[in-house]
Amino acid sequence: MNDVKVAVVGAGFSGMGAAITLRQNGFDDFVVLDRGSDFGGTWRDNTYPGAACDVPSHLYSYSFELNPEWSRSFSKQAEIHAYINRVADKYDLHSRTRFRTEVTDARWDEDQNRWIISTDSETDGAQQIRAEILVGAIGPLCEPRLPDIEGIEGFEGAIFHSARWDHETDLTGKRVAVIGTGASAIQIIPELAAKVGHMDVYQRTAPWVLPRADREYTALEHWIFKNVPGAQRLSRTGIYLAHELVSYGLTHRPDVLRPAHAIGRANIRRGIADPVKRKKVTPQFKVGCKRILLSNTYYPALGQDNVDVVTDGIAKVTPTGIVTKDGTEREIDAIVVATGFHVTDSPGFEHIVGKDGESLAQVWDRDGMAAYKGSTIHGFPNMFLMIGPATGLGHTSMVFMIESQLNYLADWLKTVQRNDITRTEVRADVQREYNREVQSTLETSVWENGGCSSWYKDKFGNITTLWPGFTFNYRKATKNFDLAAYETQRAESARRPEPQSASV
Ligand code: NAP
Repeated sequence: MNDVKVAVVGAGFSGMGAAITLRQNGFDDFVVLDRGSDFGGTWRDNTYPGAACDVPSHLYSYSFELNPEWSRSFSKQAEIHAYINRVADKYDLHSRTRFRTEVTDARWDEDQNRWIISTDSETDGAQQIRAEILVGAIGPLCEPRLPDIEGIEGFEGAIFHSARWDHETDLTGKRVAVIGTGASAIQIIPELAAKVGHMDVYQRTAPWVLPRADREYTALEHWIFKNVPGAQRLSRTGIYLAHELVSYGLTHRPDVLRPAHAIGRANIRRGIADPVKRKKVTPQFKVGCKRILLSNTYYPALGQDNVDVVTDGIAKVTPTGIVTKDGTEREIDAIVVATGFHVTDSPGFEHIVGKDGESLAQVWDRDGMAAYKGSTIHGFPNMFLMIGPATGLGHTSMVFMIESQLNYLADWLKTVQRNDITRTEVRADVQREYNREVQSTLETSVWENGGCSSWYKDKFGNITTLWPGFTFNYRKATKNFDLAAYETQRAESARRPEPQSASV
């Protein structure tokens, strides 16, 4: 059994951020565990054609590692992944990270006052780690959601999820079906439309797709970002503030976003000539209710003669095609499944077991998905969840939210160290009240009133994934660790003597 002060599960943006924060605050006794073979999380896994970020690059990066070299305003996956790896190198995260190591179970042991983490890896087999603190940085968009469609397992052609792209399969000239028209699909479809023989796009709900102000940065801009002090930060702040304005409409006044409907419809008219197709792809809910998508190439791709938009609903998949509810069968060679992720029901939640022997999945399945400040959960002592409930965003950079959580994490660790505390657990009443307020703020939101269904809601119909309002309010809420919100245990009253730890 290995002993560490902190075990971080996940080496994506949030797990890396946690590791860097630990280092910067003198907590050097930690390990990062990741089942993949590289840093980057979602930016490592999503290698589908056209993968890019729909948040501007200068904002979608760590505030402490700005990158003057971004080649364009909206970066592609490879460039973001390269940035992430540069950051990992700079902060020497490799020496603390165990890749290809799957966490099969993380269980709070009340007697030992520790997390017992079971791992499995190709090289080291099954092992256990005992940690004072568990940081769950598993990411909400890591477990592909496969559609439950009759016959899909029997399909004889190539079939893969957008986040598990099969680069060995050449789709050139093939008949391809794409299921889904979300954020991933609208990036994939234009790339495929240019090379496949024929494409059927299976659309269940037409999304709002607005134009994207994407362009390459000029040599002069690169020079300015590199050499003029504050220039890049100023640009970042401008992008940040412009995006924050949208959050007011999303949360409190959906009607102020109405002009976006006209922009979206104009985008459709610009890209598609056929009136039948135009009608099919025109959304029927208020903009913002589902994630607002950005693309200049999606509608032109749908407008191509070799692309059909199928809205009849899928009845079943046969070994060689897809049958829609009207009885039509369309023969295909390959299916791209772009149906999103298990967000509110991630299998990862089943492996985290709290003080009462219940997993996070069981607790949330019974009570609904909830945490305090998106970070700590009653029943799960000494655990910090990155990108937890009510921290997601539809309008700006998640890195901003991650860094807010990192402030809270750092202040938590410093506070418990200063006060000789060995166990913290958020009070049930505090967590309840916090979530009551979150839900009450959401009552006016477009996600509640916009006339759509979305993965922002859990099975009880509560919006449990999104932060309501301005992100600077979340930054403020997470600035300091609020000890009074927690039940604590000090070293002298701990059930077992403290093990020696250099960093405590
Ligand atoms: P998604 O937004 O959840 O979209 C899934 C799509 O699949 C939707 O169109 C959905 O239709 C459809 N679908 C699901 N089950 C289906 C079924 N059984 N039959 C037919 N259609 C089905 O998933 P995603 O596109 O992978 O994106 C997930 C999230 O990843 C995004 O919201 C975003 O946060 C993130 N993302 C970000 C970027 C970026 O640029 N930053 C890029 C890609 C993804 P309904 O709408 O009817 O449910």
